[in-house]
Amino acid sequence: MAENQLGGQQYMVLPEGASRLLGKEAQRTNIAVGYAVSSIVRTTLGPKGMDKMLVSELGDIIITNDGATILEEMNVEHPVAKIMVEIAKTQDKEVGDGTTSAVIVAGELLKNAGSMLDQGIPPAAIIKGYEMARMKATETLDAIASNVSIDEQDKLLKIAMIAMGSKNVGSDQTKKHLATLALQSLKQVSIKEGSKVTIDRDFIKIEKKEGGGIDDTTFINGVLIDKEIAHPGMPKVLKNANIALLDVALEIEKTETDARIEITSPDQMQAFLMQEEKMLKDMVDKITKSKATVIFVQKGIDDVAQHYLAKAGVIAVRRVKKSDMEKLAKATGARLVTSLDDLTQKDLGFAGAVEERKISGEQMIFVEKCKDPKSVTLFIRGGTKQAIDEVERAMTDVLGALASAVESGKYVTGGGSTEMEVSIKLRDYATDVGGREQLAIQAFADSLEAIPKTLADSAGMDAIDTLVALRSKHKNKEGRNFGVDVYKNAMSDMEKLGVIEPLKVKLQALSSATEASASILRIDDMISSKGRSPAGGTGGMPGSPGGMED
Ligand code: ADP
Ligand code: MG
Repeated sequence: MAENQLGGQQYMVLPEGASRLLGKEAQRTNIAVGYAVSSIVRTTLGPKGMDKMLVSELGDIIITNDGATILEEMNVEHPVAKIMVEIAKTQDKEVGDGTTSAVIVAGELLKNAGSMLDQGIPPAAIIKGYEMARMKATETLDAIASNVSIDEQDKLLKIAMIAMGSKNVGSDQTKKHLATLALQSLKQVSIKEGSKVTIDRDFIKIEKKEGGGIDDTTFINGVLIDKEIAHPGMPKVLKNANIALLDVALEIEKTETDARIEITSPDQMQAFLMQEEKMLKDMVDKITKSKATVIFVQKGIDDVAQHYLAKAGVIAVRRVKKSDMEKLAKATGARLVTSLDDLTQKDLGFAGAVEERKISGEQMIFVEKCKDPKSVTLFIRGGTKQAIDEVERAMTDVLGALASAVESGKYVTGGGSTEMEVSIKLRDYATDVGGREQLAIQAFADSLEAIPKTLADSAGMDAIDTLVALRSKHKNKEGRNFGVDVYKNAMSDMEKLGVIEPLKVKLQALSSATEASASILRIDDMISSKGRSPAGGTGGMPGSPGGMED
């Protein structure tokens, strides 16, 4: 699938309608596309950042400030734009926060690479310099980071508040409430081994239901299941529940189509039905014999079985999602049973209460008051779908930031202070390195300054003046934590201001931005066999270059 040159003669091997961009042209286009993507999210950075309203093809509206969400919902088509979106996704998945920053830095790295290409510096040298800079930056970040442990409530709440920072979720009071709930859930699911703490964010379930206000968002010491109890005759609430988790169908398996049953008289029919009923009753007996009072069943429950369960005073919930079963197991200590014959009392878990409650007109099942559950739920409430969705995104960022902080035990200061400090260290390093890489390392330093610059912009400060002033502050050791105070339009010590962020979020942002820009710079041949130019179709983004139909 490429042009083949033999003795100066060219053979076209591409299909008709395919298009191709080569060398500098490919690089320039890709840089422009990458930068265009980062420009879109730039204005959302920081607490003074703006929101975006996204309207899907179906007319659904999302109002958000979350970089990952904006990029994902934009449905970009250009392959380079997709790489930029990947940065945000990776950042979101790995650390939950810092998506916008990562994309902004990647965009700057690309833009600055463009100028270096113009000066005749080969992509390989730029990529090498960028990687050297990233390593030096990591070293510097490690050196300036401070410690935080899972028991330092105050520091962790500050980290949570900053991670929530720019999300439009309400007053400071509301944010504090949400931050406290997030920290509570994180602590509950954390597992300590010696000094090491691990957190599986998957076991902090986020459930949401429209209604009430954001302040009604609660923490549940257990699992909230968006289901209803199978049968109206079952109790609606049980205290001190013994819970069985069954991956079993409480139904009679239908006979295979080719295995017919010969029924020749009404008596036989009656006997057959009684036989079925007896089998179902036996199943229920096995359950009650185990002393289970609440059962969650991954498969179906026959009406007859429901009837017997109700008679026995058992709460049953059917067709429970596999992921919820896993969460229930972690919360209650129950073991998932795949055959009723194996079910014993030892497989049961415990919850202080299981209750079906009507929330905004729909039934939900609360499995709560569990004993030291390793799986919990944040139940998000709010007046509109848009509001609860943004709270959910804020919670994801906060949980990601808290987990990152607690797991690595390190934090750095925000407001662009860390980026400024690293940038200064990189400039010194660049001079030591010299050669062609020197320029790339300096360009990396420039790219990091985009963070304080953008924050200053968003606060309506003069960006250039701010950068100059910050650089001079950072010349002294005491000025190391100085960043942009976006509320006071001034420069302050971010540690004193409580603007702190997990080290891991910064490290991840740098590595994904560097990797993405390197992989984009390595491309010098774009072949599209889709019959459209590889330069075209960036989902109608402003500033993206047009197609190159040939
Ligand atoms: P990201 O998706 O990168 O996390 P955010 O919109 O959350 O983007 O903005 C994060 C940036 O805003 C970080 O550089 C952080 O230090 C900065 N920031 C957050 N809160 C404040 C604050 N109160 N003062 C100054 N900077 C802040
Ligand atoms: Mg953030």
